[in-house]
Amino acid sequence: MHSRVTSHLGIPACEKDAKALQFIEEMTRNVDSVQEKVLAEILSQNANTEYLQRFKVGGATDRDTFKSKVPVVTYEEIQPDIQRIANGDRSPIFSSHPISEFLTSSGTSAGERKLMPTIQEELDRRQLLYSLLMPVMNLYVPGLDKGKGLYFLFIKAETKTPSGLLARPVLTSYYKSDHFKTRPYDPYNVYTSPNETVLCVDSFQSMYSQMLCGLLMREQVLRLGAVFASGLLRAIHFLQLNWQQLAKDIATGILNPRVSDPSIRECMSKILKPNPEIAEFIIKECEGQNWEGIITRIWPNTKYLDVIVTGAMAQYIPTLDYYSGGLPKACTMYASSECYFGLNLNPMCKPSEVCYTIMPNMCYFEFIVHDPTNPATISRDSPPCLVDLADVEVGKEYELVITTYTGLCRYRVGDILLVTGFHNSAPQFKFIRRKNVLLSIDSDKTDEAELQNAVENAAAILQSYDTSVVEYTSYADTKTIPGHYVIYCELLIKDPTNSPSHEVLSQCCLAMEESLNSVYRQCRVADNSIGPLEIRVVEKGTFEELMDYAISRGASINQYKAPRCVNFTPIVELLDSRVISAHFSPAAPHWTPEKRRV
Ligand code: AMP
Repeated sequence: MHSRVTSHLGIPACEKDAKALQFIEEMTRNVDSVQEKVLAEILSQNANTEYLQRFKVGGATDRDTFKSKVPVVTYEEIQPDIQRIANGDRSPIFSSHPISEFLTSSGTSAGERKLMPTIQEELDRRQLLYSLLMPVMNLYVPGLDKGKGLYFLFIKAETKTPSGLLARPVLTSYYKSDHFKTRPYDPYNVYTSPNETVLCVDSFQSMYSQMLCGLLMREQVLRLGAVFASGLLRAIHFLQLNWQQLAKDIATGILNPRVSDPSIRECMSKILKPNPEIAEFIIKECEGQNWEGIITRIWPNTKYLDVIVTGAMAQYIPTLDYYSGGLPKACTMYASSECYFGLNLNPMCKPSEVCYTIMPNMCYFEFIVHDPTNPATISRDSPPCLVDLADVEVGKEYELVITTYTGLCRYRVGDILLVTGFHNSAPQFKFIRRKNVLLSIDSDKTDEAELQNAVENAAAILQSYDTSVVEYTSYADTKTIPGHYVIYCELLIKDPTNSPSHEVLSQCCLAMEESLNSVYRQCRVADNSIGPLEIRVVEKGTFEELMDYAISRGASINQYKAPRCVNFTPIVELLDSRVISAHFSPAAPHWTPEKRRV
């Protein structure tokens, strides 16, 4: 008999899990007092920073003083201060602790990734949230210590700011940290991918070697994952393209020479031995046209997919179901470059029911009531009413505002969340959407202004052909792997003898891609996680039909505006039935890890 205390959450799988679950219980039972303590800690730690002094917080650590003096801000408002740090100012601007590096968010500002200054100790806080995930999962899926996880994890290119601070995505920073690299052995958290395969910046070599390990250890794999659904589908697509070579490597025990990274070659030499049986199996499963259920065929012991399918990633659920025969999809956590927020306490639930419990120890959370019909415009003269974590109400939507140990104060993350219930006194949130995001395929987030700008740049090319864009809308087409942006355009061709050719319209596609933000271009160029942009030219009058359709469904004629993005199937079908011609971007847009000089 064991003496482990049964948590309100369930029976822990081991002593270590019991501690983690107890921690979750403690935090979620005392949300308000933990939040008060977190804010006091942040404010006293950062009392001498320029930022808090600018607003005359005067060393106060209580909520009332903080809320009355410190404004709610967006990235753009603090960007000049962030730039000072990037340029080498080492004075305590936001944080009393030295800035260890910049995390580059997939959210962009003026077309470039937002830079989030971070501090060393924040890694521990992230690690703490990670350490809670498996104990929760073990409550629902027994036996995860009897096998491995096949996780497709990648690092991305790093850059340095003018003052020499590293700038890289948060996961790259985490995978390169000792927290990940020298993590202690945990039987419940063993991966098929050796660190060397994850830590290679060349995405082909990294993916190839991770897939190879996954195939070699196919029977031991109990769970399959990537951060986002798009990443897992990219891995399946990679298998479609490379299974012959992978099978050859397995048959012969000789690693594909395209994998040239010496540390990968060295670690693979210990893992890769000739195994004709697995090689034949891979050939048999992959050579047919039918890829339905391929995941469970190749990895028959998989119990669930570990991928985020909430928010923009929900568009991939049908494809994941197709390849996996409808395996459960576990969305385990909700996090960002700014701060990690919380976890899903019921990770095997249906995607539509996923809600994240925000952990009150991560940072100080506030919420702006979100009224979709009246978006909150915040000015110093009319401060909005912000609600504390413990005071949000079930059924209401809120915009997330955070104050972090790294020194962000009352910072608007841009996420809209709906309160669905509580675990103890901790509210649980459904992720509704990110504000102002029109199109997203992978980690890219394109807003309406960026799309408008892209269309204007394409329209400038069409001007020489006496052609203008009458109306346009867009669609994130995820039926192809990788997915791609589709722009439906209705054109007015004033001089049919000089109408734009197929080549010209293809150049318009490229011009649009060139104008999109750097995360989009990186996905296109470095990650190959987005396919070439497509323009579909539709017949004259199509957008009027679209309006008729909207009006027949109750839209007001006076207020009707063409939607700048569509995803309702009947509308997409209507548009597709009116397509005259389709054109794809003929080349990759420009992208380097460095900022674009304009
Ligand atoms: P980044 O700053 O690039 O790390 O992106 C963070 C953003 O990704 C968040 O602010 C959310 O908009 C989105 N995100 C993170 N986790 C989830 C999740 N579990 N479900 C939906 N969206 C998420």
